[in-house]
Amino acid sequence: MATVSEEQVLEALKSVNDLQDKDNIVSLGMISGLMVKDGNVGFAIEIDPKNANEYEPLRKAAEKAVDAIPGVLSVTAVLTAHKAAEASPQTAPPQARGKQMVPGVEHIVAVASGKGGVGKSTVATNIALALSAGGLRVGILDADIYGPSQPRMMGISGRPVSPDGERLEAMQNHGVKVMSMGFLVPEDTPMIWRGPMVMSALQQLLRDVNWGDLDIMIVDMPPGTGDAQLTMAQDVPLAGSVIVSTPQDIALLDARKGLNMFRKVEVPVLGIVENMSYFSCPHCGERTEIFSHGGAREEAGRLGVDFLGEIPLDMAIRETSDGGKPIVISDPESAHSKAFRAIADRIWEKLDADGSNTQRAMPNIVMQ
Ligand code: ADP
Repeated sequence: MATVSEEQVLEALKSVNDLQDKDNIVSLGMISGLMVKDGNVGFAIEIDPKNANEYEPLRKAAEKAVDAIPGVLSVTAVLTAHKAAEASPQTAPPQARGKQMVPGVEHIVAVASGKGGVGKSTVATNIALALSAGGLRVGILDADIYGPSQPRMMGISGRPVSPDGERLEAMQNHGVKVMSMGFLVPEDTPMIWRGPMVMSALQQLLRDVNWGDLDIMIVDMPPGTGDAQLTMAQDVPLAGSVIVSTPQDIALLDARKGLNMFRKVEVPVLGIVENMSYFSCPHCGERTEIFSHGGAREEAGRLGVDFLGEIPLDMAIRETSDGGKPIVISDPESAHSKAFRAIADRIWEKLDADGSNTQRAMPNIVMQ
């Protein structure tokens, strides 16, 4: 297989002129973040955000030009307004400095975990549904592009449509908007993207999708704390993050890595959720604490982070989320749903408390 070089990509991009047709997009310094890895190419085109819609044909032309290079397997070009955002930091909210905001979306909160399989997606979905049950306008961005779970957990199949041929409409179920790579790529297609490609794909899921107006967007992050996660935490204007951990991971310090990652990029950690905290027996209802329950609460205290709540290991949680009707929707009066709603309330309160929350407050949930 022919190897592709950055020079080849830049050479190909020189065939694309800016809208004013004065010069090409390379000479005008509009290309940034160029990454070439194993034939997969990703780059950003810096534009004035005012004209974002007009630039879509140029973005496509740039992708096409690079795609024609022998050996290129995939091309992802994203439009960014990086320069414009940096030029006016005093007008941007603190979490958006140097990052492009997503119009219409008030707060973006990442749900992350130190490693896979701890129930991050399950917790993200149920928190999103609990926020929505509280009357907020909610979206879920499934950033776990290697193993997207949201189509299954939110019970959504099919493909998103694009009425204007430019932006995709977000999918929707249970009153929550959802976008996931799982809607765009067949399930059995292996994901060959590496870090930078993941970032480009994520930027498109974030920005080339019509999310409408949202009070809060929950980002289901890829598991782990590697480069891809770090870049994501850096490039998405996050208002905060939530770390999901099981009691035994706390002992293994995985959650601490997640915490450090967000601290490094100055994203506030809203708190830790302990999942699979204890086992509640489906027959007798008795609690068994298999993994020395309570570790997350103690660890959160030691690390100076809030403990947001605990969710037990329960078949009902697995069956409902794997069946497309998570427990907050299918059994809203259950103790687990109440626990998720209490966690969601705490998250919303914390966003409120940092002073950046100018949107309507979360209505109180009346529990009978
Ligand atoms: P991650 O996103 O961390 O990889 P998932 O949310 O996909 O993890 O969860 C992995 C599996 O564990 C799923 O089958 C899910 O239904 C199940 N699961 C998650 N949390 C719980 C829980 N509290 N009780 C029972 N099963 C759970």
